[in-house]
Amino acid sequence: MLNVLIIGSGCAGNTAAIYAARANLEPLVVEGPEAGGQLTLTTEVENFPGFPEGIMGPELVENMKKQAQRFGAIFKPGHVARVDLSERPFKVWIGGDMVETKTLIVAAGASARWLGLDSEQQLIGHGVSSCATCDGFFFRGQPVAVIGGGDSAMEEATFLTKFASEVSIIHRRSEFRASKIMLDRARANEKIDWIVNATVEDVFEPAQKAVSGLKLKSTVDGREWEHKTNALFLAIGHIPNTKVFRGQLDLDAQGYIVSHGGARTNVAGVFHAGDVQDKVYRQAITAAGAGCMAAIEAERFLEAEQ
Ligand code: NAP
Repeated sequence: MLNVLIIGSGCAGNTAAIYAARANLEPLVVEGPEAGGQLTLTTEVENFPGFPEGIMGPELVENMKKQAQRFGAIFKPGHVARVDLSERPFKVWIGGDMVETKTLIVAAGASARWLGLDSEQQLIGHGVSSCATCDGFFFRGQPVAVIGGGDSAMEEATFLTKFASEVSIIHRRSEFRASKIMLDRARANEKIDWIVNATVEDVFEPAQKAVSGLKLKSTVDGREWEHKTNALFLAIGHIPNTKVFRGQLDLDAQGYIVSHGGARTNVAGVFHAGDVQDKVYRQAITAAGAGCMAAIEAERFLEAEQ
């Protein structure tokens, strides 16, 4: 019987593991299919406090794991296939094994939606990014492109104008899903140009390990052309990893866990941490803070139960 089971090994899960382990709760962390979370997709992280020279994303999350292991947290590869939260102890199936736990911290994160092109996947971390806040700085004085027509695309494009020489928003339709205020702000920005009714068909040039341009295709007449750019930022949405909790935890229309105050979910003893609940900030530091909150709440819950 576990005191705390943590689902997810990104910033949120690993920070929850550090706190739970230091509270002698001997947490088990199920690493999930994308062990280390979204930080493993970034290169240098320059905005995580405490690293004046910056730190590589994969190294940062690996350091958190080592720190949690030092205090006794156990990390287990694998992913959660099923949960039963109808009664305590909660039952969690990791692959074929079932474990029972008194508390559960869900830090399963969200996965950026990608286009799914081979070239795009090969260039992640080399000019293709799903996080303008993380990687925009590297393209100072260079042309960059953002794909998407929602608030994230407007926000990221506007943010990127601080660094880039020009930002092209590429959207598959001519109507935008973004809210009027964010669309108007982007439209008023002279550094942003607009390519509508176009899809990205290919990203050049994986062989050079850098982005040099995009093959675009018109959704109106099928015409194809090359658009020169040095970076491609995807802002086509995120997908929270909450499928196994459907019907058991309160989820919003997009699948994010609904918070019931602090780190609490609708089920007593089940806590949320990080991007599985947060669709607004989505930062390593906010996820780490949320992991800390969830572990403290789990510890208090266990104390109150005794
Ligand atoms: P979103 O609203 O779902 O928009 C995703 C955009 O990506 C849509 O324009 C969609 O095009 C496009 N898209 C999706 N799949 C695509 C594909 N395969 N190829 C090309 N384009 C594709 O996602 P979001 O912008 O990340 O926003 C998510 C939520 O967070 C929203 O509720 C938003 O309001 C909120 N948010 C708020 C703020 C803020 O207030 N500061 C900032 C960011 C996000 P279509 O329109 O054609 O479907």
